[in-house]
Amino acid sequence: MKPLQLPATASAVLSFDFDGTLHDPSAQPPVWADFFVLIQQLRTEKNAIWGINTGRSMPQVIDGFIESRFPFLPDFVVAREREIYFPNPLGRYLPHTEWNKKCEKEIRRLFKKSRKLLDSIRKDIEEHTGAQWVETSGDPAGLISRTDEEMDWIEQRIRNLAAENPKLSWQRNSIYLRFGHLDFQKGSSLTEVASNFKIAAPQCFAIGDSHNDLAMLDSTHAGMIACPGNSVEAIKTKVLASGGFLAKADHSAGAIEALRHYFHV
Ligand SMILES: [Mg+2]
Repeated sequence: MKPLQLPATASAVLSFDFDGTLHDPSAQPPVWADFFVLIQQLRTEKNAIWGINTGRSMPQVIDGFIESRFPFLPDFVVAREREIYFPNPLGRYLPHTEWNKKCEKEIRRLFKKSRKLLDSIRKDIEEHTGAQWVETSGDPAGLISRTDEEMDWIEQRIRNLAAENPKLSWQRNSIYLRFGHLDFQKGSSLTEVASNFKIAAPQCFAIGDSHNDLAMLDSTHAGMIACPGNSVEAIKTKVLASGGFLAKADHSAGAIEALRHYFHV
């Protein structure tokens, strides 16, 4: 698998959340083949750059491409909502080193500084809910709740508890929550990718279905924002309030609808 040849001058950057937005686990293949036909058309006619902006790690992203039968590779990947990768012409993804290193360093510094605060958040959440605290090497603090409603409650609670360190942020995807740095999320990652192609926010398109997409579904990072019909309520509300496009169709069919709306193809 290889990426499409890059245009001499890009004129738009398209950022797609993967799970729930393009990828429908109940469909076979999980991403509709027509989606790729449209991407190819947008490349030829509009010089559009496209990529996946996801909470998945890079190996999980590659698994997703294979499972979903991607005919060609995206021009960029944002993994774990913050690490940026660009493919070389042979289709091997290489890290956007400067950004990824800065991000890693800042996150390490933040977690060191927030140790006590995170300990007290953990204690509080474990005392009041049945959520499970998770620590992995790449993600030093996270939570898995039993239900969506429980995570709604937890998120509200954390909003109050974490207020003392405004740089301590979190990304939520249904019952999963991962603590992180306010400055490194899907939105800031999209802006970094776009600046690499000399594209400003008004020429950026972003589509997502869940809480961790809120940061990129914002005019600071994308002038064209959308969500598929299957999105969670918080996303639909944000997209509508921001004058974005709420697709009727679910998953990749919804993404096609949104692209046709904004690019008139
Ligand atoms: Mg999603």
